[in-house]
Amino acid sequence: MSRKLLIAGNWKMNGLVAEGTNLAKGVAEAVKKAGKVECEFLVCPPFTLLSNVKKALRGAKVNLGAQDCHFAEKGAHTGDISPVMLKDIGCQYVILGHSERRTDHYESNELVNKKAQAAHTAGLKTVICVGETLSEREAGKALEVCTKQIIESVPEDSTSSNTVIAYEPVWAIGTGKVPTTKDVEEVHAAIRKTLAKKLGKGNANKMRILYGGSVKPNNAKELLSLEDVDGALIGGASLKVEDFMGIAKNSGAF
Ligand code: PEP
Repeated sequence: MSRKLLIAGNWKMNGLVAEGTNLAKGVAEAVKKAGKVECEFLVCPPFTLLSNVKKALRGAKVNLGAQDCHFAEKGAHTGDISPVMLKDIGCQYVILGHSERRTDHYESNELVNKKAQAAHTAGLKTVICVGETLSEREAGKALEVCTKQIIESVPEDSTSSNTVIAYEPVWAIGTGKVPTTKDVEEVHAAIRKTLAKKLGKGNANKMRILYGGSVKPNNAKELLSLEDVDGALIGGASLKVEDFMGIAKNSGAF
């Protein structure tokens, strides 16, 4: 089954206007220079940069995404941003259920599910994140935790066209630690099996499952050539054009 690799950058809470716009311009130029590539690119800047980044990406094949959204269309939700607003500003994607939101904002699987449904209704594609903590991995519960998160966080209306999954072991995010390829393969295979039960084999076989957690140019080839790994969700390394593009290049995309 051939699934197009997705190389996605999660800028998190980084970048003032000048810096973020320059980064986006750098990515746009590098993608144009790369020419024909065998992957899809996505950048997810903070809300404050979406407009500027959209302009900076003009003419380059790079999708725009946000890092979260509310489930409501509009109304009395101070400080929140709706999926319709993201669509309106030109986003194609939204990341949901990142472990930093699950931890810092106590987001539950049920809430992530509700947000994902609303995002799909607004015409956005979702990148739904799952992953175990270090203590869960050490207790031998990684598969159980990820499977439960998939069952509860992925809505029934998910298809391979509107949903991407990101497996991000919490202990690998921003730490420089990476699971063994065997462990990555095992979790990705379990996620695909769970998706097949939930959404049918057709959707599961076509749905992209990204790996995220300390992906760098020097480990991209090993991680992104694994059977069920269909791209990467990249934090730190997405803030440098050379590293972001280096990951795509080393994955064999160009
Ligand atoms: C992330 O936050 O999604 C992530 C994977 O971060 P990093 O690449 O920095 O580990």
